[in-house]
Amino acid sequence: MRSSPNSSNEGMKEQVSQEERTDGILLMPTEVIEYLYCPRFTYFLNCLNIPQHEEQRYKVLLGRELHEKKKKINREYLRKKISCIGKEIDVHMVSQKYHLKGIVDEVLLFADGTRSPFDYKFAEYKEYVFRTHRVQSILYGLLIQDWYGCEVRRGFVCYTRSNYRLKEIPFREKDFDEAIGIIEEIINIISKGYYPKKTSFRVRCVDCCYRNICV
Ligand code: SF4
Repeated sequence: MRSSPNSSNEGMKEQVSQEERTDGILLMPTEVIEYLYCPRFTYFLNCLNIPQHEEQRYKVLLGRELHEKKKKINREYLRKKISCIGKEIDVHMVSQKYHLKGIVDEVLLFADGTRSPFDYKFAEYKEYVFRTHRVQSILYGLLIQDWYGCEVRRGFVCYTRSNYRLKEIPFREKDFDEAIGIIEEIINIISKGYYPKKTSFRVRCVDCCYRNICV
């Protein structure tokens, strides 16, 4: 059945107002990581503006990580090892296209014109790259793509508590698609204010600061 001109106008209006609502929403990679930890964090924090208690936050670790980053040493040999030809440190980037903003520790430039995010983690390397570290690196990859207008094929994570062990993370197109999908889910929660599903890891609820209001 064909829709009437009026209903298509309504549809357009709805689409425009939805775009207006999402315009200007910029997420930091840490907010995406919070969503991955539990989608309801996004709701409590971004829709109800209920802050987490610092002492209970899993992000205490992130705070320590930031502190560690401030003390980080200029490890030129790490960059030599991966043959980059240039670097920028503490790069602030914004992408309206991907609804992202953030500061990446380093953006590396390679001879083929591609760039890569380089991120220090105050953590030990445990024989695999944590999903959160991988997703964070991919998000920085999206930011770099849009900010510099260049290709990004891989990211690097340096584990400061494992003798600065460096891990390369190859980026595939489907990794970027997955990250964009996650961002869209978060934008949906914030713009429509709907109550998302719980984390499937019930153990995370045990010492969660929202457990008393989370039904
Ligand atoms: S109590 Fe559980 S489901 Fe609710 S916000 Fe906390 S971690 Fe998520």
